[in-house]
Amino acid sequence: MVQNRGINQDVTQEMNRSLLLKNLRREGMCSRAYLASLTGLKQATVTNIMKDFLNWGIVTEVGFLNGSKGRRSIGVSINPDRYRVIGVRLARKHYSVGLFDLTGTQITKKRVDFKPEEQPDAEDILNQIAAEMRILMKKYGKDTILAAGMAVPGPFIAKKNRIALITGADIWKDVDLKKFFDRELDIPVFLEHNANAGAYAHMWDLKDAYRDDILVYIAAGQGIGAGIVMDGKIYKGALGTSGEIGHMTIDRNGKPCACGNKGCLERYASSLELVKAVYGDQAGRLGCNFEDVERRIREGDQFCIDCYQRACESLGIGIINIVNVINPDIIIIGDDMARPDPERMETVIRETVREGILADVWEGLTLSISTYQGDPILTGAAIVAIDRIFDSPGQFIPATNQAGALESPSDE
Ligand SMILES: [Zn+2]
Repeated sequence: MVQNRGINQDVTQEMNRSLLLKNLRREGMCSRAYLASLTGLKQATVTNIMKDFLNWGIVTEVGFLNGSKGRRSIGVSINPDRYRVIGVRLARKHYSVGLFDLTGTQITKKRVDFKPEEQPDAEDILNQIAAEMRILMKKYGKDTILAAGMAVPGPFIAKKNRIALITGADIWKDVDLKKFFDRELDIPVFLEHNANAGAYAHMWDLKDAYRDDILVYIAAGQGIGAGIVMDGKIYKGALGTSGEIGHMTIDRNGKPCACGNKGCLERYASSLELVKAVYGDQAGRLGCNFEDVERRIREGDQFCIDCYQRACESLGIGIINIVNVINPDIIIIGDDMARPDPERMETVIRETVREGILADVWEGLTLSISTYQGDPILTGAAIVAIDRIFDSPGQFIPATNQAGALESPSDE
């Protein structure tokens, strides 16, 4: 965006705070002097802001660090004990709600799977999620939990807070998610497409390995989406629907898709389609699920392995298109489809992509299967909230805490 407005002093202050928090988060622990050298801020500015942060409880001192010339300095880090955020993942057939500290570490998690015979409507599901969130807020205190992030399947029209289409789950079509949570909860809830949330989580995990690379995280599950990170920020597009690679055409005469197009990637490489490829279109009614297919692949069932291999080849074709459009540095593939046999997936996709793109482009590409511990989409939802807090900490820390006179919260 072109900077065409002046910047007032209070805004500068908040920008410097944000810069320091984000660098400190990435470093984990460091000295004030090192932060000054990283950010180019004057040491006095860093010291002043850190004094506020210590008062607010967002940063903590963590013992001594050995510096150059034998000097020792006090290390600082993000305080994991004072504030919390809630992460929520809404998927086609389940939801998860977790509590996280400001370093993105998960404290609690609850997952609820919808039973096949149940057909909850959108309002039911949202009420359940809001109830879970209220339980956490009651337990940990309202001025401790600063915000929540929620990852949703897509295409998600970010500017309208609305999910435009979830293949096989029409109930979400006209629900304004933001309006619902604004009405029901006292904390801000930030919505993000699930692949974008997964991309955030992987970017955080890479820490030093990620600077200004272009990273694409592909969530290949019941749907397929890509989160695209450029310069540390998610690339969203005009309405916020960028990265909808599930509806990229890989065969123009192919299978029809609920989006109106034909031959969409999702119809060949999603976990729902893999189950159908193995058990036929009646799979859902017969109660067959992805876990059955996953188990059979692990047990070496050749028919299932062949179906999986074909799905991975299709995903590889989708990735060729992504590489040609975006030319990313890093591609990470995760979610359900990466679980049954990550080694086979990696081999098949690498071969397909290498054959389909220019040799020079292949040389510059790092392609891997996610080895993320835990659910990156749930953690990513929490990180979306943390990132917003770090963007503008003065707006999130309760005014009473900013005034000082902090008491440490009681442990439960
Ligand atoms: Zn489609």
